[in-house]
Amino acid sequence: MDLYSGHINKLIEELAALPGIGSKSAQRLAFHLISLPKEKVERLTNSILEAKANVRYCRECYTLTDRELCPVCANEKRNHRMIMVVENTRDLAAYEKTGKYEGVYHVLHGAISPMLGIGPGDIRLKELLERLQGEVDEVIIATNSSLEGETTAMYISKLIKPLGVRVTRIASGVPVGGDLEYIDEVTLLRALEGRVEI
Ligand code: ZN
Repeated sequence: MDLYSGHINKLIEELAALPGIGSKSAQRLAFHLISLPKEKVERLTNSILEAKANVRYCRECYTLTDRELCPVCANEKRNHRMIMVVENTRDLAAYEKTGKYEGVYHVLHGAISPMLGIGPGDIRLKELLERLQGEVDEVIIATNSSLEGETTAMYISKLIKPLGVRVTRIASGVPVGGDLEYIDEVTLLRALEGRVEI
C-alpha cells in the first residue's frame, strides 16, 4: 500500500535517483520542497533549467562553463603549453582553489573502468590527443589515485609518450582512493610539486 500520494512518490523517486541521496534523504527533501512557498520552488526549478540550458563544455578543455571558452582557457596569462588532465570539473575547481597552478586543464569526464564498462572511447581522450597537435611542453596527469584513476593515467601515458611530450603524474601525497575534491589545498600543491615523470 502506498503511504503517500502518487505525486509525492514520484518526487521522492526522482530525488532518490540523484547521486548521494538515499531514500530517507529523498523523503526529507521531498517534504521540505512541498512545504516551501511557491516562489522558492520556482526559483529552484528555474535555476536548474537555466543551468541545463546554458552550461556547456569549454571548446578547449571541456570543463563545464557558460561561455565558449572557460575563464582558464580564455586567460592569456596562463601557460597554455602545460595541460593538467583531471577526471571532472570538480577536480579542476579543487586545483583552481589553490591559486598556484599556472597551466591549463583537460577534463576527461570520467576514468577508464573495465569493471563498469567505461573504455577509452567513453572519456574525452581523443580531444586531448587533438590538443597535443599544438605546442605542448608537459601533460600532468592528475586523475584520482583510485584503481580507475591509475588505469587511466597509465593508458594516457602510453598514448602520449610516443609523441615526445613530457608526461608527469602527481605525487602519491594524495591518499589512495581519495577523491581529489575532498583533499586539502596543501596536499594538492604538494602532490603537484612532487610530480614525477612516467
Ligand atoms: Zn577551458
